[in-house]
Amino acid sequence: MSVRTGILLVVSGPSGSGKTTLCRRLADLGEVRYSVSCTTRAPRPGEVNGRDYHFLQTSEFQRLVEAGEFLEHAEVHGNHYGTLRSEVLGHLDQGIDVVMDIDVQGAAQVRACNDPGIMRARVDLFVMPPSEEELESRLSGRGTDDPEVIALRLRNALQEMSHWREYRYMLHSSTRERDFERFRALVEAQRMRVSRLT
Ligand code: 5GP
Repeated sequence: MSVRTGILLVVSGPSGSGKTTLCRRLADLGEVRYSVSCTTRAPRPGEVNGRDYHFLQTSEFQRLVEAGEFLEHAEVHGNHYGTLRSEVLGHLDQGIDVVMDIDVQGAAQVRACNDPGIMRARVDLFVMPPSEEELESRLSGRGTDDPEVIALRLRNALQEMSHWREYRYMLHSSTRERDFERFRALVEAQRMRVSRLT
């Protein structure tokens, strides 16, 4: 039997691409550990502290930045987000796969990280929405937001999408089931990578 170190699966994509659903679903099956981020944004209805995010005051977030506790952190839409080193590092050594749902700035920081454990573990994937029309319809789906809010989200999404070439893999979203099949296939293939077998 071979033993391996964990995969660090970095997943980005604009809101409306379905990336969070993909990451959560794989984690709910017990296949990977979902890295719970810290954020200074307020919880949305139904979000649970410690499960969806660690919701922090700005001062506490700043303290963690200064203490060097974050593997990466970034400002997204006016709020701070970051991944604690402790959410990731120990798990990889134990052969536990970790999935991070982070924006393009955070993904760039993970890519630039020269920690040998991170370099060996990391795989990055960009989830691309099916089309601009479909994205617009997904972003306006809630029906409660102002047209300006929807237009801002769409602009942000298009900006984020311009970074897809920085990733090793790109998943062009189709149906939920098909997306999940392909996402899982990527993880399965990564589990066979010789460089992570010990
Ligand atoms: P939301 O506020 O809608 O949950 O997330 C907004 C954006 O922040 C999404 O693109 C999400 O992937 C990103 N994000 C969530 N957690 C982190 C994190 O820890 N670091 C970075 N860089 N981005 C994050």
